[in-house]
Amino acid sequence: MLTNDQLDKWDRENFFHPSTHLAQHARGESPSRIVTGGEGVFIEDRDGNRLLDAFAGLYCVNVGYGRTEIAEAIAAQAKELAYYHAYVGHGTETSITLAKMVVERAPSNMSKVYFGLGGSDANETNVKLVWYYNNILGRPEKKKIISRWRGYHGSGLMTGSLTGLELFHKKFDLPFAQVLHTEAPYYFRRPELDMTEAEFTAHCVAELEELIANEGADTIAAFIAEPVLGTGGIVPPPAGYWKEIQRVLKKHDILMIADEVVTGFGRLGTMFGSDHYGIEADIITIAKGLTSAYAPLSGSIISKKVWEVLERGTDENGPIGHGWTYSAHPIGAAAGVANLKLIDEMGLVANARETGAYFNEAMRTALAGHAKVGDVRGEGLLCAVEFVDDKASRRFFDPSAKVGPAVASALLKRGVIGRAMPQGDILGFAPPLCLTRAEADRIVEETRAAVTEVFA
Ligand code: PMP
Repeated sequence: MLTNDQLDKWDRENFFHPSTHLAQHARGESPSRIVTGGEGVFIEDRDGNRLLDAFAGLYCVNVGYGRTEIAEAIAAQAKELAYYHAYVGHGTETSITLAKMVVERAPSNMSKVYFGLGGSDANETNVKLVWYYNNILGRPEKKKIISRWRGYHGSGLMTGSLTGLELFHKKFDLPFAQVLHTEAPYYFRRPELDMTEAEFTAHCVAELEELIANEGADTIAAFIAEPVLGTGGIVPPPAGYWKEIQRVLKKHDILMIADEVVTGFGRLGTMFGSDHYGIEADIITIAKGLTSAYAPLSGSIISKKVWEVLERGTDENGPIGHGWTYSAHPIGAAAGVANLKLIDEMGLVANARETGAYFNEAMRTALAGHAKVGDVRGEGLLCAVEFVDDKASRRFFDPSAKVGPAVASALLKRGVIGRAMPQGDILGFAPPLCLTRAEADRIVEETRAAVTEVFA
């Protein structure tokens, strides 16, 4: 077995890590961690630490670590047939079964699933399909996509453009001109507007209407959004937001893409976030929870309305010019089938709802009274704690103080992984959906201790 020193050397020399300060890492100034195993909500590393992963990897290991049912399904598929493509009508029993299982679980207007590999490529597919759709309908000008500031939709070229976080644009010449951003319903961050929450919701809706009016509805193809703003801060929408947004979209014949990469398959305590908020999407993006990350797989779930136009397009133009070698990869599909069965058998959607409510309430009770905690919010098994320098005036810390990362690292020293969200001093939680109340209590206790320590 390689020594830790050897691995660390190779890591610094050869491994290009995503979302990492490359220079600091290469110089050995930032921590590295070699993860070796996991069970339930815990992971283990080479240094012998056992950590409670309260972010489920990157909010993806929804059934928890170490589920042999999924590992065995993957092994069985690999032995029987590791790969065959899905072009020109090919498939495998697992990929077809998974498509059936996904559509059965999806809102009733959904019809078909296109399988990709990750959330980013699924959203790239969605944009292409929306463009194709409008070309077939004879509206070649209707192509712009509206997303929200602080939304996260991936880090490809188009999806990095859709993402509304500066870090993902800076020095990459993004966003593309076909992408427009509008305000996300993040009331807590907008004290300067001096509005009630209901007024702020109306303001978000009015801004969308204005953007559409200025650009011309006949130039706008789709609106893409996460049911609950995720990486941008874990922010559940205010009451009435989704109803009003959808009213505007319908009025202007703009398609709704619900990016459910985080919220799909139970995280909010319903199978989809769209079920929770009454979103009638035309396309739904899925990834993460589809396989609980046991193998890479994503999907674009297509509504009947969009599907009919795609079919017509191929009657007029021949086969659709879109596909990846690994679309509907049998090993990913095998992981997906086993994973969705496990979610049902373990009752994880209900657990996300019940333990999620317990967890959010416990976090609120433990932390909301702290002078530097401005907001504790969440839904299902998503939770965020946001720190403020001054609570009464909602004055935020200077980003250079790195308060959020400081709390996350104090928490890590106490054996719990939370995530310092990339923009703002926000500590995020998205534990595996198998979380127990005792584990929830431990996350809350250690968070309280970490917060006390950092602000002492
Ligand atoms: N959409 C959302 C809502 C996400 O949270 C993410 C990833 N965090 C993505 C898309 C992109 O997924 P991936 O990293 O698998 O490309």
